[in-house]
Amino acid sequence: MAPSPYVDDARDIKEDNPFESMMSRFDEAARLLDLDPNLYTIMRWPNREITTYVPVFMDDGHVEVFVGYRVQHSFARGPAKGGIRYSPDVNLDEVRALAAWMTWKCAVVNVPFGGAKGGIICDPHQMSPGELERLTRRFTAELIDFIGPERDVPAPDMNTNEQVMAWMMDTYSMHARHTVTAVVTGKPVDIGGSRGRRDATGRGLLIVSNEAVKKFKLNIPDTRVVIQGSGNVGGTAARLMHEVGYKVTAISDIYGGIVNEKGLDVPAVLKYLGENKTLEGFEGADRITNAEILELECDILMPAATENQITSKNAHKIRCKVLAEGANGPTTANADKILADAGVFVIPDILANAGGVTVSYFEWVQNRMGYFWREDVVNERLADIMVASFNDVVRFAEKHSVNARIASYMLAIDRVGSDVRMRGIYA
Ligand code: GLU
Repeated sequence: MAPSPYVDDARDIKEDNPFESMMSRFDEAARLLDLDPNLYTIMRWPNREITTYVPVFMDDGHVEVFVGYRVQHSFARGPAKGGIRYSPDVNLDEVRALAAWMTWKCAVVNVPFGGAKGGIICDPHQMSPGELERLTRRFTAELIDFIGPERDVPAPDMNTNEQVMAWMMDTYSMHARHTVTAVVTGKPVDIGGSRGRRDATGRGLLIVSNEAVKKFKLNIPDTRVVIQGSGNVGGTAARLMHEVGYKVTAISDIYGGIVNEKGLDVPAVLKYLGENKTLEGFEGADRITNAEILELECDILMPAATENQITSKNAHKIRCKVLAEGANGPTTANADKILADAGVFVIPDILANAGGVTVSYFEWVQNRMGYFWREDVVNERLADIMVASFNDVVRFAEKHSVNARIASYMLAIDRVGSDVRMRGIYA
């Protein structure tokens, strides 16, 4: 008998490496699916990885070279898709994991994209707008042969925004000699962005939270929500959850969090944050650390900051019913087992935060049609997809007696695998 091709999914992993967390879940899901060994061998690898060294004139006249990556994990179901992040912590294994998560995420919500992710090692908070623009334009030029509406469509991610997308779109368009809006998503609405895109990830989190509330027969006004992070994802989720009546009891930024068991006045919190760039000093709440916020008793815990926040070291201290992952990879594979044993219902990242890429898909469609939808139309179509995907994952979990994390990987791998099989290997 041929030896099993499957890598032992119970192996020891380096817990702080998101790529290892991603792969151990991939291996477990593939084994449970009994995935064809040849498909398994193919799908353990990304399609292409680009490393580029980006020279930038700094404002004082000296040149610095920044390292940038774009990992194109899969094209099996359509153009690669995924954000670009600017951070000092960017590294290739992180970008690899994030690219793979984009493939699985697009498959879970069934939008016709593969997966990609990019990142530049830099500290955007120490750079001027001019330096950021030159960095973005040169990085885009370096990627010019690899991106495009039919190839790979970048979007915002950590520390990048609509302005960065506008520069990318303009640079690509200058080379193409005509305006190509569909090369990136998450653009400003005036130059081809979609209405509803800015709020889409937070809105998606609201929609899946509503589904979890129904599933567990909770009622919204008594449902306590704790959110780690107050950027585009956490801040928007807090605002939208508060608007429909959830009790948001705690929220944090990079410096720490604030808590009020009676419920925070979220609009006041967000206004304060906008004006002061920190939550520190906000009156009407107690100060807590970023580690403590995850350990607060609540109904829905929403880590919406970054990777590796819930690990084997703190998972046993988590006291929520539902974990709705706003960030990509906030929970390590080692923590999964601890949460499952504790009965925490996890709405995994590749489902919970898929609202962003779903509306990116709508933006790409609108760009190619040259016809733009009203915001209520965007939101309604987003809700249809998020609700259907939530139910697909829950049904898959029940059918295979697995938790929602592994169910979402199984669903995604099954969909991508069947497309890889149909297309065959070009030789
Ligand atoms: N960066 C977002 C994510 O991680 C959005 C990606 C996109 O819209 O392409 O899902």
